[in-house]
Amino acid sequence: MKKDAEKLLQEARSALDAKYYSDGYALFKQAIDVLKNQDDSADADRCTEELEEAKKKYKTCAPLPAIDYHAHPTFLSNLKENPPLFMAAKHFRAKPDIFPKDIEGMIQHMDEANIEKAVIMGLDTSAQEHWAFKGKGLSNDQIADFVKRHPDRFIGYASVDPKRSDAVEELERCVKELDLKGVKFHPSAVNLYPNDEKYFYPLYEKCVELNIPVQSHSGTTGLYFTKIKYTMPIHYDDVAVDFPTLKLVLLHFGIGGWHDQAMSIAFRHPNVYLDLSGASPYIIPKDLLFAANTPFFQDKVVFGTDYPFVGMAKWFATYNKAIPDIFTEETKKKVFRENAIALHKKSPVSPLDILREEGFDIPKDAIR
Ligand SMILES: [Zn+2]
Repeated sequence: MKKDAEKLLQEARSALDAKYYSDGYALFKQAIDVLKNQDDSADADRCTEELEEAKKKYKTCAPLPAIDYHAHPTFLSNLKENPPLFMAAKHFRAKPDIFPKDIEGMIQHMDEANIEKAVIMGLDTSAQEHWAFKGKGLSNDQIADFVKRHPDRFIGYASVDPKRSDAVEELERCVKELDLKGVKFHPSAVNLYPNDEKYFYPLYEKCVELNIPVQSHSGTTGLYFTKIKYTMPIHYDDVAVDFPTLKLVLLHFGIGGWHDQAMSIAFRHPNVYLDLSGASPYIIPKDLLFAANTPFFQDKVVFGTDYPFVGMAKWFATYNKAIPDIFTEETKKKVFRENAIALHKKSPVSPLDILREEGFDIPKDAIR
């Protein structure tokens, strides 16, 4: 085999070793083309075989070390303590074996799918009056403890029931004392619209002050005893207008028929993102997936599963089979990894600052 092909092959193999499978496959293809051009069909065949074997071996893996932006450390034992979640699991025909036994079991599932890190959170409904939400969910301290035990695998988010009398203080404690990196809201679970000025706005204000992202449920939900009018994406437009520098991720892209609404909100607001969780790749609308290749959405779509309700390995087995090439190589890197990192590292775009820099006369106290 000539040197140029040999070099490409070495690069391909080291990409696979580094778990950058998509890059590895592309390098294999280049090597095979070079070999074919050199009429070295024996080596070309051997490489093709090696490539096919790698694809089979890594068929449940993300194309590169991925960050799952929405995963629940929900164990089988938790289901029995949580009526709305139990009914959701039953409705979605979730088999008991999809749930991990413990946090190490969850990490094993991440490894099977080449998921390097997962954003994890509980669901605080402690101030709700409905009996079904009185049960004890995972606390913010437990989430912080999982992160402490596995800091290289988890990013912890807070969950705060906006109706708690100490909601803002609890959020601040989660960030400053527990080192949680964002907050998750589920408006349907707390019977509030996300644009509720009394309960939600003080929390958003604190998020802007702390410069942390908010992830919030949008679209339909399997969570029983809830109303989905609260999670219609359109209500988030008010939030984005009133808090122009709030980093806001619409979880589940408005799933259940409202993805067009979710997309139109992310389209117009520089700090609004969409997450892909809660759906098999077969279910995610193709127009959303193709939009992720355009400049308007490429930096704003983040991959997530909603594990364990959507299995990590299963997600990628479907993706690799059905739509491995729907994203460009650049989009893959952003959607599966870089956008989630940027969300925690970068400052939000500030429309008023942009105008000020351009010399516009903006009132000093203007915030929107
Ligand atoms: Zn979820």
